[in-house]
Amino acid sequence: LPEAPVEALQAADVAALLPRPAADAHKYTRGVVGVRSGSAAYPGAALLSVAGAACGLAGMVRYDGDPAALDLVRAAHPEVVGPGRVQAWVVGSGSDDGAEDALRAAVADGVPIVVDADALAFARLTRGRPAVLTPHAGELARLLGVERADVEARWLEHARRAAREHDAVVLLKGRHTVVARPDGRARVTTTGTPWLATAGAGDVLGGLVGALLATGLDPFDAASVGSWLHGAAATLAAQDGPIVASDVAAALPDLLATLTTR
Ligand code: AMP
Ligand code: MG
Repeated sequence: LPEAPVEALQAADVAALLPRPAADAHKYTRGVVGVRSGSAAYPGAALLSVAGAACGLAGMVRYDGDPAALDLVRAAHPEVVGPGRVQAWVVGSGSDDGAEDALRAAVADGVPIVVDADALAFARLTRGRPAVLTPHAGELARLLGVERADVEARWLEHARRAAREHDAVVLLKGRHTVVARPDGRARVTTTGTPWLATAGAGDVLGGLVGALLATGLDPFDAASVGSWLHGAAATLAAQDGPIVASDVAAALPDLLATLTTR
């Protein structure tokens, strides 16, 4: 069977897909995203995932990760609240050895899940559930049991294979980011900059995709819109010079302003 052509979202497509609050919205109807990232060893991953999730698109962000990171998260994001009902989970960045438990708990909730980093080793737990897996090339190689060089040589093919085998949307990130569905439909991300090759950049992306899932976008749209926004925010931030991951999250409001007023 010939594979479906690869699509590329344009700014106008992203603007059309962006969730906007209804006139009678309240914070719960806008969507609640839960973050289970970070650990005592990697508290920064919690902060960066929350920073991506707290972009203003969802109505609320809950942090339900390692208590060791809670004070840091609260100090940086006073609007973040504690555990409770959510419409999407973000799991795995900097989770250390808590990734499996965090993912099991998220799966038990039955809501869409962003599966990143340490949680990718347990991606099979999400079978039959809406999920976005967000590996870089090394993580995808491990997921498929192939060499990293194979992934790099046939990027799209491996993203599609992982999506099919795991029955999930796969967001393969790197120099060329692609988003693939189990049926082979795929989108390539045209935004971004090599300045994104910086620690924690992927954690921000996971949070952002989680927020979009919580608003009700389907996993394919949430992953591809999130990736587009992440790349565009990085490009915007990098106009002022070299960036770190938190700069990408900090650039999201200015970027979203240009899209929501279109
Ligand atoms: P992670 O490895 O999980 O921190 O994710 C890295 C993020 O930076 C992903 O969104 C990648 O797509 C992006 N990225 C990494 N290297 C490059 C590159 N050379 N060019 C563009 N984007 C990159
Ligand atoms: Mg990562």
